Amino acid sequence: MKGLAMLRIGEVGWIEKDRPSCGSRDAIVKPLALAPCTSDIHTAWEGAIGERHNLILGHEALGIVDEVGSGVKDFKPGDRVIVPAITPDWDSEAVQRGFPSQTGGPLGGWKFSNFKDGVFAEFFHVNLADSNLAHLPDGMTLEAGVMLPDMLSTGFLGAENARIEIGATVAVLGIGPVGLSSIAGAKLRGAGRIFAVGTRPAAVKVAKKYGATDIIDYRNGNTAEQIIEATGGAGVDAVIIAGGGAEILMDAVTMGKPGSVISNVNYFGKGIGDRDSIPIPRAGWGVGMADKDIVTGLCPGGRVRMERLAEIVTYGRMDPSLMATHIFKGFDTLKEALLLMKEKPGDLIKPVVLLDQ
Ligand code: NAD
Ligand code: ZN
Repeated sequence: MKGLAMLRIGEVGWIEKDRPSCGSRDAIVKPLALAPCTSDIHTAWEGAIGERHNLILGHEALGIVDEVGSGVKDFKPGDRVIVPAITPDWDSEAVQRGFPSQTGGPLGGWKFSNFKDGVFAEFFHVNLADSNLAHLPDGMTLEAGVMLPDMLSTGFLGAENARIEIGATVAVLGIGPVGLSSIAGAKLRGAGRIFAVGTRPAAVKVAKKYGATDIIDYRNGNTAEQIIEATGGAGVDAVIIAGGGAEILMDAVTMGKPGSVISNVNYFGKGIGDRDSIPIPRAGWGVGMADKDIVTGLCPGGRVRMERLAEIVTYGRMDPSLMATHIFKGFDTLKEALLLMKEKPGDLIKPVVLLDQ
């Protein structure tokens, strides 16, 4: 079978591999819709997870079940499914501790395009199908559905971890598809005022539709100062970080009120200085005693998470398809879609590839 792979750091190309084999509780799935992720760019071109040879990329997919193992109860060939980006080993000790995305070590629930072949293939393998697949509801568009496996799950986690109370003021730093989903999540959680910090025109438009009340351009001066001024000196109750480099935590912590939560879902590819660190502002953090919590997390995966996100879409709480700005058709367009994600032109939020099945 054919797949789009990271050949080595900095090089991506089509390769031929054997079709994966199916374990007794697993499934083999054919893609129906695929989306490249910013993480694929970090992985393939920046070496975010280290060197990999001929690793098939991709972890955002809807699919059609092609084969199931003898122990799979709820799925059969022909079923249309949502495939979470994160597919934990649900019987592991990390699950018992309440952290399914961290099974088998840090970020270990993330298998596709990390330490096993991803979904940018004619067929891909899903472990524990009954726990890691969800039925794609009839009537859900592919453009909307393909945002669930990672973008909505991660963006909403940013809002969930931020412990937003009704009427709270929230700032979302970075308004790519993850930050936009965090804005929608903050609104669903009952935020009052929502600051969206970003510049891409297409994203600003969607940010307003998803609930942003104020747009802040981080190129117009220090973000923390702009937000503190806009709130009359008070700062915000919660900050969600969904973009930016190592210095962004300085802004995030500074703009939080005493008692605020700084919720990070951003990937930090580089630190600062010889200790490769992410600095925290001493005074802005209330000299370490202002009850400002910094919380982090990896995208939640699994079946129940996908079913709940699907309910959000089915019952009209938000429309994730607004983020699908560029639609490609056919498996062979996948490389073009991935390269567009790498370039990130101003009118792009997320490319989506629809397959003929
Ligand atoms: P994106 O690149 O589309 O969006 C991030 C945006 O932040 C960019 O437009 C960038 O220009 C902007 N930005 C840069 N500096 C900024 C600043 N100082 N203030 C505000 N905005 C700034 O990326 P995305 O696809 O939305 O993903 C966001 C991040 O989340 C990435 O780092 C990605 O790797 C990570 N991610 C994490 C998870 C997870 O499970 N935690 C899952 C998916 C993606
Ligand atoms: Zn991703």
